[in-house]
Amino acid sequence: MMGMIAELIAVGTELLMGQISNTNAQYISKRLAELGINVYFHTVVGDNPERLNNTIKTALERSDIVITTGGLGPTKDDLTKETIARAMNRKLVLYEDILKRIEDFFVKRHRVMYKNNEKQAYLPEGCTVIPNSNGTAPGCIVEEAGKTVIMLPGPPKEMIPMFEDVVFPYLKKSAGVVLVSKMLKIFGIGESEMETRIMDLVDMQNNPTIAPYVSMSDITVRVTARCGSKDEAEEMLRPVVNRIRSRLGDLVYSEEGETLEQVVSKLLHEKGLVMSTAESCTGGQLAARIISLPGASKIFERGFVTYSNTAKIEELEVSEQTLTKYGAVSRETALEMLNGLMKKTKSHVHVAITGIAGPDGGTPEKPVGLVYIAASLHNQLVCRSYELMGNRERIQNDACLRALDIVRRLILKLEVPGKH
Ligand code: ATP
Repeated sequence: MMGMIAELIAVGTELLMGQISNTNAQYISKRLAELGINVYFHTVVGDNPERLNNTIKTALERSDIVITTGGLGPTKDDLTKETIARAMNRKLVLYEDILKRIEDFFVKRHRVMYKNNEKQAYLPEGCTVIPNSNGTAPGCIVEEAGKTVIMLPGPPKEMIPMFEDVVFPYLKKSAGVVLVSKMLKIFGIGESEMETRIMDLVDMQNNPTIAPYVSMSDITVRVTARCGSKDEAEEMLRPVVNRIRSRLGDLVYSEEGETLEQVVSKLLHEKGLVMSTAESCTGGQLAARIISLPGASKIFERGFVTYSNTAKIEELEVSEQTLTKYGAVSRETALEMLNGLMKKTKSHVHVAITGIAGPDGGTPEKPVGLVYIAASLHNQLVCRSYELMGNRERIQNDACLRALDIVRRLILKLEVPGKH
């Protein structure tokens, strides 16, 4: 059906009191926009039966699709289901398989199930159940006289997977559209810089839509075209993807949503290259990332974890003088680690990492987060330093990503950023 009108109802007194913000509505609205479904109203209503009833009745009169979030919990004041069932003239009936799922949920977590959790296994008669893998409250889809009501739980970590797994495909089918996406992966700039570079494109767009997602250490920009056929959608995507690429250049490392290690692994395979690593502060995580992918035996030779000075001396022939004079975290040590690694292996790509992952060990000259990465491929040799932010885990993670990006750049003969 084209031109469908949707309305979102968030149930919860917490929302009205300003204790939490309605991020569910924002999330769902964005996804509905991608489907070309018009969202005309967002309503927030407290846990009050009468006001909830009125809200739902009004919504059913003016919209084709009503999506509710929240109020599916086991307590008495969670009454979304009861109210909607009444408004749609449906009985609530016990779904045995859901009850079983809820019981299993408690058994798996060694928690006691209370009688009121049973309430969550009651759903409107004849509905489509949406299982909840991250909590107890299932959701459901109820269709009645050309109207669709979709109920989802409030917590985003439960709501989002249920929306993605069941609701989005369901709505896509009813909207009769073909969606094709490109997932541009970007590494090397922060969120604000990315926004400055492409925000005007994001603001202007409608179809294709452009949606940036920022995670701990990388950025994904999803570009989605909505069309009658796959070919048409692909055709619409190309110029938009190219425009974004022209703004971001070689910071874009994939169009297919791959990870940096997937991209590096693919490049090593394509070019017939083999890699070896020498790691201090990352403790073998760089090697592990490459080896975690299938086919690693063809592209990875060996990795040293030389955490102590002794290990650096014994395994990689780093000189004691260098360690005393410049310290274990220094350009000189990184380069000597790299040299030692090159002597010990028959690989093409070599990477050495040394740094201070913290939380201790930082000094004013060498703060926590200072990382040196030396790398070589054929006649190219680089050594860069970075001042990474965050806790130990984050610094180790970012150091690995930096190293992977350096390898990608060496293989593609691109400039390597960072302090020389
Ligand atoms: P549960 O079974 O976990 O109780 P529920 O469906 O009853 O789920 P609520 O009790 O309404 O959900 O809300 C639970 C929590 O989910 C809230 O404390 C809040 O953290 C989050 N939440 C609820 N509604 C929203 C919303 N609209 N946007 C973002 N977060 C929300």
